Amino acid sequence: MPEYTVPQRDIRFVMNELLDSEGLYQTLPGCEEATEELLNTIVAEASKFCEEVLAPLNRSGDEEGCHWTAEGVTTPAGFKEAYQQYVDNGWPALSVGTESGGQGMPNLLGVVLNELTGTANWSWGMYPGLSLGAIKTIETHGTAEQKERYLGKLVTGEWTGTMCLTESQCGTDLGLLRTKAEPHSDGSYRITGTKIFISAGEHDMADNIVHIVLARLPDAPEGTQGISLFIVPKFLVTEDGSMGERNSVHCGAIEKKMGIKASATCVMNFEEATGYLIGAENKGLASMFTFMNTARLGTATQGLAHGELSYQGALKYARERLAMRSVTGPKNPDGPADPIIVHPDVRRMLLTQKAFAEGSRAFLYYLGQRSDIAEFGEGEAAQEADDLMALLTPIAKAFITETGFESANLGMQVYGGHGFIREWGMEQIVRDARIAMLYEGTTGIQAMDLIGRKVLGSGGKLLMGFTKIIHQFCKDHAGGDAGEFVEPLAQYNKEWGELTMKIGEAAMANPDEAGAAAVDFLMYSGYVTLAYFWARMAVVALEQLEQGAGDREFYQAKLFTARFYFQRLLPRTLVHKEAMLSGAANLMDMDEALFDF
Ligand SMILES: Cc1cc2nc3c(=O)[nH]c(=O)nc-3n(C[C@H](O)[C@H](O)[C@H](O)COP(=O)(O)OP(=O)(O)OC[C@H]3O[C@@H](n4cnc5c(N)ncnc54)[C@H](O)[C@@H]3O)c2cc1C
Repeated sequence: MPEYTVPQRDIRFVMNELLDSEGLYQTLPGCEEATEELLNTIVAEASKFCEEVLAPLNRSGDEEGCHWTAEGVTTPAGFKEAYQQYVDNGWPALSVGTESGGQGMPNLLGVVLNELTGTANWSWGMYPGLSLGAIKTIETHGTAEQKERYLGKLVTGEWTGTMCLTESQCGTDLGLLRTKAEPHSDGSYRITGTKIFISAGEHDMADNIVHIVLARLPDAPEGTQGISLFIVPKFLVTEDGSMGERNSVHCGAIEKKMGIKASATCVMNFEEATGYLIGAENKGLASMFTFMNTARLGTATQGLAHGELSYQGALKYARERLAMRSVTGPKNPDGPADPIIVHPDVRRMLLTQKAFAEGSRAFLYYLGQRSDIAEFGEGEAAQEADDLMALLTPIAKAFITETGFESANLGMQVYGGHGFIREWGMEQIVRDARIAMLYEGTTGIQAMDLIGRKVLGSGGKLLMGFTKIIHQFCKDHAGGDAGEFVEPLAQYNKEWGELTMKIGEAAMANPDEAGAAAVDFLMYSGYVTLAYFWARMAVVALEQLEQGAGDREFYQAKLFTARFYFQRLLPRTLVHKEAMLSGAANLMDMDEALFDF
């Protein structure tokens, strides 16, 4: 497994120099404590824990996996102890509001912590990661009593949470779910059904597990209009908040799977388990969106995590591995061959990884800040941040996981045949990264959400909110040193709006046109969004170099990587543009029977 060193310099660059977090948080009520110094200190502390405790368990966790018995699930050696340390140090409470017993640090820090734990050990990070979604759901939709009863221990990390949506017949189309919820005379419900693929559904890391479950009342309308949301704890919780009787929800099996093997993926059987309604009857799916949006941003970070780890491994290897000579003359004349980093194609792979990782970090931290503005800000600013989150979350989820997987693959490629061999750990990164494009809504489903609900569904308003910001940035920096970035960005930004109009018009005549264009539209949107962040990073780097700041190499590297992104990765938009404009006919005209030939 490549050794993981947290890229603290780049994290500080994004948090402080690019996004001026201190400046923002001074203006957000309740966030004033988040000064640059405090943010940096927290990142440094989290880095130690992730590098020293979590990263060493990444490979062993993959080798050992989880163990199931009828009594429960045990996680790989060291996982439980690492979790206890995490809890003892107060990490679960970091970005939870003080009114819920948390430390009240901004959501941005939650995103950073997720990146660090996830890069060190994605499987491990899923256990606390899901708790955060459960906390947000109860905070937003729970009654005062539910908050009182469950939040405290979820926030300290003594208990963990899950998200129970999927059933064997449905993952994407939750309107098909069958789990039943029968009202009971004491005001609770009896939940019966089987959920599959439930991450952290059962494990030995915490005393209690709070399941957030979607189920259907007996007289509920069919489809998504008839789904309600419930809290189903593994152990019932008494009035004084202590743990009572064991509830009748049990893990029937864990899945054997391609990657993230140390994360328990559970079949959960609910047999008249006691559950408590959250929010209104039949409005469960809307409430669940709180959980899903938190989880989607968390999963987007998985693309960054695997891309970063793979890059760190590939870079080290490319400097050490000797093969052939540079065609422009030996670079390692005393050795038998040159290190492979001299070859253009190896540099293409490394720079692709670097550009995606650093660009994605900027994109995700920006979203972390938007969620803080939406939560703590007021009026128009809060609404604008909320709109940006709505538009950009599906782009981040799908684009960053797709490019993160590409990066993981490239890292393996840099190792040649050794990348395919287990002991180097690069193949584990590929296996672990693959799930990110599937769960929390596949790439195809994110793309439909983007083009359908967010872009066309808002009459273009949400997209315009973002393209206006890009337009203003391009205007502010036109004619300056950053022209090589700003000029193409301005053109793409304009084209993004034009393409949307064309697809919107085509979709009015034939609804299949939107679905046919969706993934290419999303990828196009992802490349343009990342171009915006790369252009912003280039502007900061140019300013710093001009002002003679120290750390010149860091800023020079940023500029070179920005240039690589604009010249080599951004042109991929051309293919996506052609594909999305080619229309639905080349997909839909072929009779289904012809697929056999
Ligand atoms: C390791 C792992 C962990 C998981 N953790 C959890 C968890 O904690 N909680 C939970 O509830 N679930 C969890 N899941 C389930 C996961 O979210 C679902 O598998 C995922 O949402 C896809 O659903 P599905 O598997 O039923 O695929 P389907 O819905 O059957 O989709 C199959 C294919 O059809 C495509 N498709 C479907 N409908 C459309 C459409 N209208 N337009 C275009 N394409 C379409 C999909 O994109 C996909 O490619 C997990 C899954 C795995 C493998």
